[in-house]
Amino acid sequence: MSGTMMHKQLTISSLIAHAARYHAGTEVVSVETTGGLARSNWGKVEENARKLASALGRLGVDAGARCATIAWNNVRHLEIYFGVSGSGRVTHTINPRLFPEQLIYVINHAQDQVLFLDKTFLLVAAKLGEHLKTVKHVVLMGPRDEEAAGLVEGLLFYDELLETGDAQYQWPELDENTPASLCYTSGTTGNPKGVQYTHRSTVLHTIAGNQPDGLALSGKDTVLPVVPMFHVAAWGVPYITAATGSKLVLPGPGLDGESLVKLIDGEKVTIALGVPTIWMGLLAALAATGSKAKTLTRTVVGGSALPPSMIPTFRDEYGVELIHAWGMTETSPLGTLNQLLQKHGDLSDAEKADIRLGQGRAPWGVELRLVDADGAPLPEDGETQGDLQIRGHWIVESYFGAEGSALTDDGWFDTGDVATIDADGYMVIRDRSKDIIKSGGEWISTVELENIAIAHPGIANAAAIAARHEKWDERPILIAVRAEAADPSPDEILAFYDGKVASWQVPDAVIFVDDLPLGATGKVLKNKLREQFGETLIGKD
Ligand code: ADP
Repeated sequence: MSGTMMHKQLTISSLIAHAARYHAGTEVVSVETTGGLARSNWGKVEENARKLASALGRLGVDAGARCATIAWNNVRHLEIYFGVSGSGRVTHTINPRLFPEQLIYVINHAQDQVLFLDKTFLLVAAKLGEHLKTVKHVVLMGPRDEEAAGLVEGLLFYDELLETGDAQYQWPELDENTPASLCYTSGTTGNPKGVQYTHRSTVLHTIAGNQPDGLALSGKDTVLPVVPMFHVAAWGVPYITAATGSKLVLPGPGLDGESLVKLIDGEKVTIALGVPTIWMGLLAALAATGSKAKTLTRTVVGGSALPPSMIPTFRDEYGVELIHAWGMTETSPLGTLNQLLQKHGDLSDAEKADIRLGQGRAPWGVELRLVDADGAPLPEDGETQGDLQIRGHWIVESYFGAEGSALTDDGWFDTGDVATIDADGYMVIRDRSKDIIKSGGEWISTVELENIAIAHPGIANAAAIAARHEKWDERPILIAVRAEAADPSPDEILAFYDGKVASWQVPDAVIFVDDLPLGATGKVLKNKLREQFGETLIGKD
C-alpha cells in the first residue's frame, strides 16, 4: 500500500506522555487536603502515574477494573486520572456530596475494586464499609497515617503504594475505544446514571473543546480549575492542560472566595473555571480584600444559569473576560462555548455582553438541534423554543450497565433542556424541560424570572417554580432568600417585574425562605421546592 498516513490510537497516556516529554518542568501546584501547598511538575506527575499503574498491577487490579476516587482537586488525584486510565483501567470519579445511599449505589453499580480517598472523606467511607460489595482496596491519598489506619481495616496509603511501583513501567498501547473514565449524573430524580467516557471521546473532547473559540488554554497560561475533578473531569481541564503544558493550580478543599484570591495572586493565575456560585464568592472576596486579581484575564463559567451582572462586573472592575459554557455529564461535558464572531466586532460592550450571556455555539465535533414534543425539528430563529438535542464524538450513547440506547430513534441525545438557537448557531437555555412553567398553554421560563429577582438588591437568591393552579394548570411562584440586612416585601418584589416581562408571566406569589435546597452539584433542587410549595395556590381564587 502507498500514500498512507500513520494511524495512532487516541489515548489518554499520549496526553501525559506529551506533558512529560515537552513540559516536564512546568509546575503543578496543589493545595493539600491537610493544608499547605505542594509543588510538583508534569514530569513528576507522569512518573508517579506510571508507578501507580504498575503498583495497581502488582496489587492484582485487572485491566478494565473500575477504580473510584472521592477527592478534591489535588496532585494525587491528577496522578490517579492518568495512572488508572493510562493503564487501561477506569477512573470512576465520585461526587462526595451524594447522599450515603447514593454513594453505596454508585460504588456497587460500578463494581469498583479500588477506592481512593482524601482524608476529608475517610469517615464517610468507614461508615459505608460493610455495604460496599466489590471494593478490595481502600487507599488514603497521602502518607502513612496511624490514626486513619485505625479507622479502616486494611487501609493502604497512596505514597507507600507508589513506592511499590516500577519507575520503568511503560504505557500500554490501548485501543482508543477502551473505556477510560466513568461519572454518574447527580440523580436529582431516581438513581444516578453512569456515563463511561472512552480514550477516543476524551482526546477528541480535549482537542475540540480547547480551540481558540473554546477554552483556548495555552502553554502561556496558569490554569485554576475550581470546577471539581470529582464531577465530569473538571470540564476536561486535567487532560487539556497536559496537552498544552499549562501551569496547573489545583485548589484542594479551599473553594471559598478568600482562599481563591490568595491562590490567584500567589500563583499568578491567568484563567480560572467554575460554576456561578464560585464566582459570586470570588467577587465578594475581591471586594473585601481589595485585590484586583491583576494576572487573571479570563474566567469560564457554566453548570447553571449565569447572573447577567457577572459579565460587566468582571469586565469593568477587574478587566476579566467571562466565557460562558454549557454542558452536562452526558456531553463530557463541553457542549457549547460562547465566543463572538467577526461580525460582532463593532458592537458596543453592552451588546456583546448580551450575546455572551447565552450559552454559545457548538464547537466542531458536536451538533445541536431543537425539536417539538413529537420529535420534529423546529426553526433556528432565536425565538422558537424547543427540546434541545445533541450528537457528536463525545456524547453518551448508552448508560453504563443499562439496557438499551440513551438516544432517540434517529440517534440524538435529548438533553432535557429547553432552548432557542439563532441563525448563527448561538444557543440560549430557557429552562430544563421538567422545570419550565406551563401556564394556560404558554411556556414561562423560570430562568428569566429568577434573573430579574436576583437583580433586586433585596434578594440574595431565588428559584421560580410551577405551582398547580385550578384555572391555568400551572402558575409561577417565586421562592426567595432575602439579602443580608434587607427586608423587601412580596409586593415590592412583584412590582419589580413591571415592564420586564409580560404581565401574565409575573409570579403569583413570593415566598421567603432562609435557604434554597441544593443538590450534589450545587444546583437548586426544584423538585423539593415543588413538593413543598407546589400546592400553595390551590383553593385561592
Ligand atoms: P446533573 O448531573 O445534575 O444532570 P450536570 O452537571 O450534568 O448535572 O448538569 C447538566 C445541566 O446543567 C444541563 O442540562 C443544564 O440544565 C444545566 N446547565 C449546565 N450549564 C449551564 C449553563 N451555562 N446555563 C444554564 N444551565 C446550564
